[in-house]
Amino acid sequence: MFRSGVTTAARTVSKSSPASVESMAAAGTTGRRVALWATGGQGCATPMVPNKMTVKTISAGRRSFHTTPARNTQSAGAVKATSASTQAATAESTAAAAATTPEEDGKDTIPGTSIRVFRTVAGLRAWRRGELLAGRTVGLVPTMGALHAGHMDLVRAAARDNDSIVVTIYVNPTQFGVHEDLSSYPRTWKEDGKALADVQLSLGGKHSKLGKIKAVFAPTTEEMYPSGPPSQEVDGHGSFVTITPVGQLLEGASRPTFFRGVATVCMKLFHIVQPETAYFGQKDVQQTVVLRRMVRDFAIPLKLVVGPTVREEPDGLALSSRNVYLGTRRRAVANVLRRSLLAAEAAVIKDSSLNHDQILVEAHRVADRTLAAQKQLPPHERALFEIDYLSLSDADTMEELGGEQRIDQKKGAILSGAVRMLPVENPQPGEDLGHSNGPLVRLIDNIIIEPKNT
Ligand code: AMP
Repeated sequence: MFRSGVTTAARTVSKSSPASVESMAAAGTTGRRVALWATGGQGCATPMVPNKMTVKTISAGRRSFHTTPARNTQSAGAVKATSASTQAATAESTAAAAATTPEEDGKDTIPGTSIRVFRTVAGLRAWRRGELLAGRTVGLVPTMGALHAGHMDLVRAAARDNDSIVVTIYVNPTQFGVHEDLSSYPRTWKEDGKALADVQLSLGGKHSKLGKIKAVFAPTTEEMYPSGPPSQEVDGHGSFVTITPVGQLLEGASRPTFFRGVATVCMKLFHIVQPETAYFGQKDVQQTVVLRRMVRDFAIPLKLVVGPTVREEPDGLALSSRNVYLGTRRRAVANVLRRSLLAAEAAVIKDSSLNHDQILVEAHRVADRTLAAQKQLPPHERALFEIDYLSLSDADTMEELGGEQRIDQKKGAILSGAVRMLPVENPQPGEDLGHSNGPLVRLIDNIIIEPKNT
């Protein structure tokens, strides 16, 4: 496939990743982080092991959302066409985000706030029309839930620019490959509500009922994909938005259906919410490049704002909903990608005349040394990993620079990478292995080399 964004060393890495946990998006600011609990298919909460590197934790909420009973609106044909993993996730998200009628929709609120919970497109649209008629601007923050400080930063940015904010919480099946972690992806509905209530309070002070977060849109998959969920297979059928070639490079090469799913669901959310501005994190830098291209090429009338990557303290691991899968042993090594990218950035800062290969060799050196040190440890202590890719790419297209090419100072460039944290060997009795017993976790990160006005 398209491996133009990958250095020779990275190309040799095995691409097989059974039951892998792929990270969608990228590093150290506030360490505030939601205590993570998984809401299972029956709505029962299962505690997950908190990350040991976390500095502060938002306490888990005690209150739950008011929900109406789930109604299965999916046709038999649609169910047949759905992959097993999609069905599992659909069942789960239906339990957490119960379907409702457009008339009832929006009556439920997040406890202690006036944030309305919408499940239907019609209900959300009716509310949106009211905002339009009242002359209020709307900012959209799309998420897959399991909210953390990175998401909250985007909400704060939206609050600075808009009268009203819609946060969407929807685990979108079409951006997961068939072997990815759709069914185990953390779903933390109650805690997400608590986190939103807290940020609403911090935005609105004592008058949190007047805060700018007006709505959470948490549809079921039946609601988002009324013809049945499109296939997760690469050559499967469905109504898709594809943005190429950028969507096929780097992350798109490793996850061939990922950007197709992201672009498709974001196109839908943009149509449903019709925001003036939509907010995305730099952590998923390629996602922002894909979506910018989509907004431009489809003349979508909105502004896209990218917020900085929020990182855990003290080691700068980018916050991700998937960090809960790591467990203690792997967490201690998981910032290898961050350190590798920082080494490459330091080389650029020191000598702006370095070419692509000279820059990336610095990143590979850090990764190689870290791996060698882990390999020296006995199997029950070490955490092994594989670098999927380390890249230095064009800032607009994410095409890899040529080996001897230097960074165009007027344009800047993007340093990015992905690492697979392998399941630990010889787990010890009582060891914290992370969520779902610590499957393979794929983490991504990036650093933007800013243009210079020379
Ligand atoms: P997700 O819930 O993972 O789909 O992410 C929803 C949005 O939050 C995306 O725009 C992500 O780029 C953004 N995001 C996720 N993690 C971070 C982070 N650590 N810092 C900033 N933004 C983030």
